[in-house]
Parts: sequence; C-alpha cells; structure tokens
Amino acid sequence: MAWIELEHLSHCYHAGTEQEHRALDEVNLAIEAGAFVAILGANGSGKSTLAKHLNALLLPTSGACRIGGLDTAAAADTAELWKIRQQVGMVFQNPDNQLIAAVVEDDVAFGPENLGVPSDQIGLRVARELHRVALDDYAGMNPARLSGGQKQRIAIAGILAMEPECIIFDEPTAMLDPSGRREVMETIKKLNRDKGMTVLHITHYMTELIDADRIIVLDGGQIV
Ligand code: ADP
Ligand code: MG
Repeated sequence: MAWIELEHLSHCYHAGTEQEHRALDEVNLAIEAGAFVAILGANGSGKSTLAKHLNALLLPTSGACRIGGLDTAAAADTAELWKIRQQVGMVFQNPDNQLIAAVVEDDVAFGPENLGVPSDQIGLRVARELHRVALDDYAGMNPARLSGGQKQRIAIAGILAMEPECIIFDEPTAMLDPSGRREVMETIKKLNRDKGMTVLHITHYMTELIDADRIIVLDGGQIV
C-alpha cells in the first residue's frame, strides 16, 4: 500500500447548487513514502484543491483519499483527523500569511506547542529545525525584518518541528526573488535527499522540476 492513495477522487465546490464546479475529476494517484513528486498545471487546474485533500482540509465529494492508511472522510470529526494533520504539513505561497509570532523561535515553537509536546523537547526541536534551514543565528529576531526566502525557511522549520511524515509545498517560491527561490529549493531538496521526507512540490517553474522523481501534470482537474 502506498503512503498516499487517491482513488477516483473528485471534488465539487458548491455541490448541488448552480455554482457547482468540479475542481478534481476522478483522480487516481499513489505516492510511496520518501518520494519527491512535482505537481504542475495551469492556474485553476486543481493543484491547491488536491493539496488540501492530503491533510483533510477538504474532504472528497466522491472517491477516497488515504494518508498512511487513514481515510480522510472516515477520520473527519475524530481524533484521527489530527493524526493526518500532524503527518502532512503544508507550506503556502505567501510567507507573510504563515508567520504569527514576533520572534523567530516562538514562531517555530507554535506548532509543537499546539501538539502538546513537552516544553523541554520544544526547545530542542526549535534549535534542530532552525539549524536545518540554516537560520540558527536568527532565533531571536523579528521575522518581519527578514527576506521572503528566509521567511519561507522559518515556515518550513515550523512545520518540521511538528515532525510530519510529508510536506506539501504549494507554490512556495512564487512570491520570492531569484535568490529566495534558490534558498527555498535547496532546503526542499535537502529534506528529501538527506532526511528522506515525502515531498510534494506544486510549482509552475519548469527549472524546479529537475530533481523530482516524478512529475504529475493536472489539467481541468484531471491527471494528464
Ligand atoms: P490551482 O491551485 O491549480 O490554481 P485550485 O485548486 O485553486 O487550482 O482551483 C481549481 C478550480 O476550483 C478553479 O476553477 C477555482 O476557481 C475553483 N475553486 C478553488 N477554490 C474554490 C472555492 N473555495 N470555491 C469555489 N471554487 C473554487
Ligand atoms: Mg493553487
């Protein structure tokens, strides 16, 4: 059994109304643990909708989505939902919408604090993940004063501090300058290569696809 399994997954926004829109149409996909998969597609092709199914932010209109053997629809309203959310971290496009604390280390600590991780372990996780994204020296700084690339690396450190199995990057470099894009891509590659994390990278930059094991192209809600 693959770690991520989508079976005839369809998603309709505003189902049953006049605005009904089928954003995903019978998607079948299996992704093994440890894979580095890129997802490519035009605006509106359903990439973000697909990503949101993988940590149960959205539930299938029909079909199934299984993460580490857990069915997202069955997990809704149960403790298993939080198990899925903890296993699949998401990094979004806009770094400014993802940071909440006024000090870098507090921001990275926010996720594990919410998971109820004992405080002596939180400090260790924060130091470990700031080191991984090469921001050790920025622990006490205000994130507002950092570059876009640095802010995205803080967001990544915050996700990693929750110790997920998989990270989904939804166009994480779209708002960055070329050096920020390079920093973030280096970090993403390292996570997969050195840490063996399952990585799904949604992008529309062709040059960012080179290192992927597999490229999936979406068009009109279907894998083409
Ligand atoms: P992508 O990430 O590839 O740009 P999305 O998954 O965001 O695509 O969107 C797929 C389609 O679903 C688009 O036509 C979009 O307009 C529509 N859509 C996305 N989110 C919503 C929503 N919350 N309500 C209604 N339609 C939506
Ligand atoms: Mg999108």
